[in-house]
Amino acid sequence: MLIFRQLFDPSSSTYTYLLGSNGEALLIDPVFEQARRDTALIDELGLQLVTTLESHVHADHITAAWLHRQRSASRIALALASNAEGADVYLKHGDQVAFGNRHLQVRATPGHTDGCLSFVLDDESMAFTGDCLLIRGSGRTDFQQGDAHTMFRSVHTQLLTLPGTCLLYPAHDYRGLTVTSVAEERRYNPRLGGDISESDFVGYMQNLNLPHPKQIAAAVPANLHCGIVPPTSMSGDPLPERGWAAIGRTPDGTPEVTIGWVDENKGAIRMVDVREIDEAESDGQIDGVEVIPMGTVDEASKSWDKEEPVITICRSGRRSGRVALELEKLGFKRIASMRGGMVAWQNQ
Ligand code: FE
Repeated sequence: MLIFRQLFDPSSSTYTYLLGSNGEALLIDPVFEQARRDTALIDELGLQLVTTLESHVHADHITAAWLHRQRSASRIALALASNAEGADVYLKHGDQVAFGNRHLQVRATPGHTDGCLSFVLDDESMAFTGDCLLIRGSGRTDFQQGDAHTMFRSVHTQLLTLPGTCLLYPAHDYRGLTVTSVAEERRYNPRLGGDISESDFVGYMQNLNLPHPKQIAAAVPANLHCGIVPPTSMSGDPLPERGWAAIGRTPDGTPEVTIGWVDENKGAIRMVDVREIDEAESDGQIDGVEVIPMGTVDEASKSWDKEEPVITICRSGRRSGRVALELEKLGFKRIASMRGGMVAWQNQ
């Protein structure tokens, strides 16, 4: 069975695609700030990330390829023509990238940059078009190695020649559209569809006068090294967790530790049971916990040191997860919920 997820980074309007088959996963265009979310989702789905793919060297966000390789030993793959350093696999037109018992076919679709690739699923039911063909639009051709003539030919020879039913997933959409099809774009794309000629398209693209992307100065140099960035410039600290505990993150970002970790460290850290008092008393507690019901944690936490480790606990781990997330937002640096709660603790 094919697993497919379309993931979104709101700050750069980038789509990241997760494809899975037989326990293996690929990510197309992973975003640095979303690495934690994407890792948590891959873990929850029981997949092993084998490869991250870049559709091109992006100018609007930094790739998470290098972070994922650090964590998952995934291979970094992008176009040989991108001139990027540090990848494990340099792709050329006609290559295949396998995951489980499926694969993507690599097509060179330059025009936005020289190293732009599109990835077509083995049965041609879906294609990932990067910044070449967008929904009712196209990528820009006015910076990096942009060339409108080249883009027109890429779209007409490599993408609009796919079956009409093939679904197309771009690297971005700025209006909230998520998917299109070859038949739709052949017919409705205002820049590239219908009987629009190469010279029409080139004239259109030369007169767009768009501002440069906000992140271009930081993104392009970092992406030419597959997203390696010094720790001081990491925004949002997406991966990995540093220091105090073996933290795992759920897809909504909740920091968690296992009951095994709590068992080893109890006594040395503050443990807060956020159940109601009668519930905690009747259902059993871990020695040394403070019972502070969920509704009163905000007030109680005002006197706590934000650097001090705190583990939150409840019956199943859901309420304590919410409390951990809230406390993290309030600035607590070493906070985690005990995964599975007292139900898991009592069943260990
Ligand atoms: Fe781009």
